[in-house]
Amino acid sequence: MSRTALATIHLGALRRNLARVRERAQGAKVMAVVKADGYGHGLERTARALADADALGVAALGDGQRLRAAGHRQRIVVLSGPDEAADLAEFRRLQLDAVIHHESQLAWLVADESGPDRPLNSARPLRVWLKIDTGMHRLGFPPAQAAAVHARLRTLANVDRDIALMTHFAASDEFDNAMTNEQIEAFSRATADLDGVRALSNSAGLLGWPAARGDWVRVGGLLYGLSVVGDKSGSDLGFEPAMTLSAKLISIQHLQKGDRIGYAATWQCPEDMPVGVVAIGYGDGYPRSAAAGTPVLVAGARAQIVGRVSMDLMTIDLRGISAPRIGDRVILWGQGLPAESVANHAGTISYDLTCGMTRRVLFVEDHV
Ligand SMILES: *Cc1c(COP(=O)(O)O)cnc(C)c1O
Repeated sequence: MSRTALATIHLGALRRNLARVRERAQGAKVMAVVKADGYGHGLERTARALADADALGVAALGDGQRLRAAGHRQRIVVLSGPDEAADLAEFRRLQLDAVIHHESQLAWLVADESGPDRPLNSARPLRVWLKIDTGMHRLGFPPAQAAAVHARLRTLANVDRDIALMTHFAASDEFDNAMTNEQIEAFSRATADLDGVRALSNSAGLLGWPAARGDWVRVGGLLYGLSVVGDKSGSDLGFEPAMTLSAKLISIQHLQKGDRIGYAATWQCPEDMPVGVVAIGYGDGYPRSAAAGTPVLVAGARAQIVGRVSMDLMTIDLRGISAPRIGDRVILWGQGLPAESVANHAGTISYDLTCGMTRRVLFVEDHV
């Protein structure tokens, strides 16, 4: 194998994680969220592995187009809905569900209903998810408008009568944060008299907030074995990492006490010691912000980064490794090393890491 950094995608882990999510969802339907190229794991391959989900969730129309082009016939929900009036025809042609979260989208639907293609539009009504903003203050109608918007949508011949109701949590990863209870209550009040299935929870909502289970859960992170919950990794929660990032050890240096390492000479050897050079850096998407002390695995044993991560390379402390050899594969995160433990040292979350792989990384599929 060449020196290229490898992202190995464990398709079996994706399938098993979906089964675990299903078990926890206790009968609620599962929307598998595959936005951002399947959290960086690859949109089409992820969708294929998650074919048993009840629907796929994507961020924008373009992802829906890619999935239909690749032959996916599952229900697909576009989480930010149409971005302009002209998108509606494409939503209909590809039979994509649209989240409707803003007045402007409602106006496009009204214009579309009375437009020149009216007979066709009402023959193929759009499936709509009405999004209510219960406190996240990003997308959604204010709770006070929910009933009126729902009624308005019901009058439109180009909108399917079964309107799903949804909201999104801001802090469900903090299991003791009362904000989620407030959001659940605001959602119940706003939707009390409305027909339609309910969808509230993301991954953390599913784990920590049983009152928010509803009829659908929208789960991303857990399917990839990733977690944003406190100090818990995806593995701690019983899920398997779906991406293992690895690279080659290409040099071993025997440095002296006092030698400094890397750009800005930020790290100094406390004793004579072996230091390894690994062929991966921020040019591959490994975070430059990963500080000295960030863990890596060499032949199954933990070592840590010393000095700054550079564009193509990083340096690691080999003192704890019994017989390191040039050509050894070093695991940066994945099987045996949760991405969360790297994210903690890099000031970010694991989702950000897997989403960040650049084109230089070679993706390979592990079917087990
Ligand atoms: C991304 C997203 C999700 C999934 O969140 P996870 O934490 O990855 O489970 C669910 N719903 C909406 C609206 C989202 O944008």
